[in-house]
Amino acid sequence: MRIVFATGNKDKMREIRQILGGLDAEILSMKEAGVDVDVEENGSTFSENARIKADAIYNILKEKEPEEAGNTVVLADDSGLEVDYLGGEPGIYSARYLGKDTPYSEKNQIIIDRLANAKDEERSARFVCAIAACLPGGKSLNTVGKMEGRIGYEIAGSNGFGYDPIFFLPEYGKTSAELSGDEKNAISHRGKALREMEKLLAEELSKL
Ligand code: IMP
Repeated sequence: MRIVFATGNKDKMREIRQILGGLDAEILSMKEAGVDVDVEENGSTFSENARIKADAIYNILKEKEPEEAGNTVVLADDSGLEVDYLGGEPGIYSARYLGKDTPYSEKNQIIIDRLANAKDEERSARFVCAIAACLPGGKSLNTVGKMEGRIGYEIAGSNGFGYDPIFFLPEYGKTSAELSGDEKNAISHRGKALREMEKLLAEELSKL
């Protein structure tokens, strides 16, 4: 069995290999499986976008290597930050928010500025990650993981990526950019969604 993860992101692949490493399957990135496409994410939820990507890549692989279709699982994820004070923005537009090429130092400062009048209890936010799997025979699996926190008053920390430096975790007294990689994986939206998917996949693979 081979599991192809529809991402070109090396950090994500490392995390995925760590968490899914116990499964009896070879884990490949899209590139390692010989696919290099940018699927348009035109869904209206994280789960829809993950499903669109997983199905698209599964179909491409099936056409390319029909003889492998019976032992191929495709996984895809979609994730982002929801800020309650901003009506859930940036949400599914997290990567494109305020411009795809705008540096996160700027995006993060703009979000802090937009919350200038927000009190502690109005600063709630969460990271969300949806994962979709496409299995041989057309079966699909879906999981969602969330990490709750608050938008901080200042940028802090240099680990992680994206919005981590403004994502304050009150129970740790730090942002998710101040946690180590392992600490973040243990509580993160992506870690939760992946571990749940690992369980579901282990069950399904044992039936094949
Ligand atoms: P995608 O799931 O690769 O499309 O990523 C969506 C965007 O959400 C990223 O480009 C980041 O802006 C944001 N994001 C998702 N997960 C995280 C995280 O763990 N930390 C910081 N930003 C994140």
